[in-house]
Amino acid sequence: MTPPADPAGAPRAAAAAHYLRPGTLQLGALPPLSLYVHLPWCLKKCPYCDFNSHEDRGGLPEQRYGEALLADLETALPLVWGRRVQTVFIGGGTPSLFSPAAIDALLAAIRARLPLEPGAEITLEANPGTFERDRFKAYREAGVTRLSIGVQSFDDGALQRIGRVHDAAQARAAVEEAARCFETWNLDLMYALPGQGLDDLARDLDTALSFRPPHLSVYHLTLEPNTYFATHPPVLPDDDTASDMLDVLCERTAAAGLQRYEVSAFARPGHRCGHNLNYWQFGDYLGIGAGAHGKLSFPHRVLRQVRWREPGTYMQQALAGTPVSNEHEVARRDLPFEYMLGALRLREGFDLQRFAERTGLPVSAVLPGLQQAEGRGLLVLQGDHAQPTARGFDFLSDLQALFLAPPAPGQARPPGPRA
Ligand code: SF4
Repeated sequence: MTPPADPAGAPRAAAAAHYLRPGTLQLGALPPLSLYVHLPWCLKKCPYCDFNSHEDRGGLPEQRYGEALLADLETALPLVWGRRVQTVFIGGGTPSLFSPAAIDALLAAIRARLPLEPGAEITLEANPGTFERDRFKAYREAGVTRLSIGVQSFDDGALQRIGRVHDAAQARAAVEEAARCFETWNLDLMYALPGQGLDDLARDLDTALSFRPPHLSVYHLTLEPNTYFATHPPVLPDDDTASDMLDVLCERTAAAGLQRYEVSAFARPGHRCGHNLNYWQFGDYLGIGAGAHGKLSFPHRVLRQVRWREPGTYMQQALAGTPVSNEHEVARRDLPFEYMLGALRLREGFDLQRFAERTGLPVSAVLPGLQQAEGRGLLVLQGDHAQPTARGFDFLSDLQALFLAPPAPGQARPPGPRA
């Protein structure tokens, strides 16, 4: 792809050259590249949500935001010249608040600027409101290949207690419509909800599985800082009940033919989420949109970027050619932990060679951590392959913490692993 012939082209090319300068890392090859597009509005802010989502007060600036996204993409192009995009994920927020025509225009504009792999997975997140459901078919026609529906529960009481705007009947109707319109789709469920017992969870799960979802994502409700629930905490199931719930989830999904391929993700053969797999495998992703995060590799460095978070500021800055609010090169000492944060979430583990390829570091940088993890029964090492054990999944943060950089002189040591 040639650089855009616009006045900003020269500084952008200079910025790209800056990232290509020599450095201490030696990446064998650049990893696969994905594109994430963030649409930051929702009908109402859920009390547990710490995502960059803002209540739509009836003035969704569909057109201006679309223009800002394209300006953002144009600014980023020199950083990914010549690379093909494997997957696109339109997330939020609630992307299904955007009209099918807006999504169609967005995808056409992306295709005109970035080479997409033939048959690239293109996911759109949707909420199960009636208004959104009526749009599913049109999203498919616009080129979306995979729908991810934020159901969370099929129980009216639970949905109310977690502040969702849809009810159980809408959730069922949305799932039926998704199954009609898409060959592959995801259903999001949450567990350990306020007032939820083991039987309630089992009922929710059975309802979800009755739709034969190709992919199921299951999240443990946690109280995050800066949310309504953080200051008004509901009564949640205790840890033992939550752990029993996870056991029920794993048993019933397995019996239904869904494989737990990642800590929170279950899929039928051929229906894993390619986009998220690329994250977990330390692939690259260009993130555009308000507050979007990105990770881009160059032969001698790994760059992380964040866009302006507040939608109004983001639009203004993106249209002025400055969508990135901050960025940094990942320090050499932090790469092992950053790699393991994703890779150890995968049931099948990873090849050590891939660690070297994606981080530009020698395998020796993680061998002590891997051996320690193996000694504690958290991981199995076989030749060039590392795979977390069931115990490793249960104590995932302890396993990941084995790869934290040692504290710099004078710095406090991070909390040690418990396992
Ligand atoms: S719909 Fe999703 S993104 Fe929006 S506020 Fe609720 S949890 Fe957050």
